Amino acid sequence: MANISETTDSDLRGKVALVTGASSGIGRATALALSGAGMRVAVGARRTDRLSALADAAPGEVMSVPLDVTSYDSVAVAIAQVVERFGRLDALINNAGLMQSGMILGADVREWERMVDTNLLGSMYAVHAALPHLIETQGHIVQVSSTSGRIASLGSGVYAATKFGVSAFTESLRQEVTSQGVRVTLIEPGFVATELTSHITDETMRQAASEIADSMRTLEADDIAEAVPYALRQPEHVSVNAILIRPTDQVR
Ligand code: NDP
Repeated sequence: MANISETTDSDLRGKVALVTGASSGIGRATALALSGAGMRVAVGARRTDRLSALADAAPGEVMSVPLDVTSYDSVAVAIAQVVERFGRLDALINNAGLMQSGMILGADVREWERMVDTNLLGSMYAVHAALPHLIETQGHIVQVSSTSGRIASLGSGVYAATKFGVSAFTESLRQEVTSQGVRVTLIEPGFVATELTSHITDETMRQAASEIADSMRTLEADDIAEAVPYALRQPEHVSVNAILIRPTDQVR
């Protein structure tokens, strides 16, 4: 008799997922987790050398697709390529993101534009381009937001605004598509040790981020990645709408 994990894993076997922002951190770990669960996985990002290395390391079939989420055309072409190769799309893991913390006064507004373009518009573009295929397969959309999508803090106003936006868009999306059998899951990680803070240009904020990391047992990318197959494996009548994961040591 099959044990429970064999039974549930087989639900994902052969299905197709696209993970955006798969060249590092949470996206990379999620792609490996889904590949390990038997899915055919398309991995998207701008650093294609990293994607090729990931494809080599993954246990299953992995397709590398160059994409820049700030361009609608780039996202649409990538999704068309995935569907052409695999014939279907069952899950979009909408994960690509960028954090450039800093105070509002005197900020370089081009950093704001980059965060809005990547985290908010980029995430919306991916949903728009993938949705027709996901309706066809009664698929699943996993939206990576953040605890910053619930609680804004000093120096992260714009990043938090983008993540509040992702959370709002996700709830509206869920209400629109749930009756068509498409499930939507919001993932809200707390502090995860990844490359995310390496893009902060403000020296004080960078230092603050590094002190926060040193002050606690942070999460690892795998701690978040595990939540994705959990949500995808649920029986059809179960829709896991949100998963909030903080390090035990993170207070806010
Ligand atoms: P990383 O910096 O390690 O990963 C970010 C990923 O996004 C990279 O693969 C990067 O790939 C990709 N990316 C960035 N810009 C673009 C773009 N324009 N087009 C396509 N891909 C892009 O950070 P994390 O793994 O931590 O971040 C993943 C997600 O998790 C983000 O949405 C982040 O906001 C969220 N998050 C992270 C937390 C943390 O503490 N680390 C906490 C809460 C949420 P490339 O540069 O190759 O294009």
